[in-house]
Amino acid sequence: MLFVGDIMLDELPGKVIAKGNNPFAAFHKQFKQADLSFGNLECVVGFAGKKEDKPFTFLAHPRVLKTLKSHFSAVSVANNHSGDFGPKAFETMLGLLERAKIPYFGGGRNLRSAHAPYVVEKNGHKIAILGYNNFLPRSFEALEDRPGVAWADADQVAFDIRNAKEKLGADIVITYPHWGWEHEPLASKHQEELARLMIDAGADAVVGGHPHVTQNIDIYKGKPIFYSLGNFVFNGFDTEESQTGWALELVFDSNQQITWTIHVAKLDKNGVPRYAGILTKQEIDKILR
Ligand SMILES: [Zn+2]
Repeated sequence: MLFVGDIMLDELPGKVIAKGNNPFAAFHKQFKQADLSFGNLECVVGFAGKKEDKPFTFLAHPRVLKTLKSHFSAVSVANNHSGDFGPKAFETMLGLLERAKIPYFGGGRNLRSAHAPYVVEKNGHKIAILGYNNFLPRSFEALEDRPGVAWADADQVAFDIRNAKEKLGADIVITYPHWGWEHEPLASKHQEELARLMIDAGADAVVGGHPHVTQNIDIYKGKPIFYSLGNFVFNGFDTEESQTGWALELVFDSNQQITWTIHVAKLDKNGVPRYAGILTKQEIDKILR
C-alpha cells in the first residue's frame, strides 16, 4: 500500500494539471507498484458555494478528478479544507468523486456514512481504511443530517475500528487522521494519546497528516505510527521542512506482519513533488521514538 500526504489541487498544482501535466509523475513507479494507494484530498473539488470565513480556502476544478483517478484507489476527504465552501459544495464534491469512480472515506452525506471505512479485499486480506479530521474548524463535521467530515472523537474512533474488525471482518485496519500543530516536527501529546487509542482499539498502523511537515515515528505494541507524512502536492511553502513530504510504502505479509519504506518527495515552487530517494535506517533511527 502507498500512502502519500496532503494534496491541494487548486492554485499552482491546479494550473499544472490545466496545462496537461501530471503532478504525480515523479512517483509513477511507486504508484504503479502499489496494490492500493491513498492520499488526503485537501481542497474542495467542484464549484464555488458559499466561501467560509477562514484564511485559506481551496477550490479545485473538476478536471483534476481524472488525474486523481489514475493514481489513487481512494482518497480521504477528512481535513480542514474539504468544507471550505460549505456543506453543499462538499456534497457536490462527493457526487463528482462518485461519478468519477473515485472512492472516498473520512466524509459523507451524514454522520453514519462519514464514519464508514473504505473496505477492499486484496491478495487475501480484507482491508479497512478510516479517515478522521481533528483540526478546526469543527463546523465541517458531518452530523445526522449534514454532510461533512468524520471528526476524531475518541469514543467514536474506537467504535469505528472495532466495528471494522468485528462486524465488517477486516483483518487489516489503518487509520488516516488529519491532526497536529502546523510546522511542528514532533507529535503533540494529544496525537500520541489518540494514536495509542487507535492501536488499542485494533488499528494495525496509523498514518497522519496536516502539519505541513513530516513528524516523528512511533512504534506502539509493535504497530507503526507515522504522525505526519507532510505535504505531497501543495504550493505556498518555502522552507526545506514544508517542501519535504513522504510517500509511505506499507507491506503486509500473509500473517499481517508489516514492513515499511519511506520515499522522500521534495516539492518545487509549484508544489509538485520530485522523487528524492528512500530514508536510510540511520535517518529513520533519528526520528523514531
Ligand atoms: Zn490540513
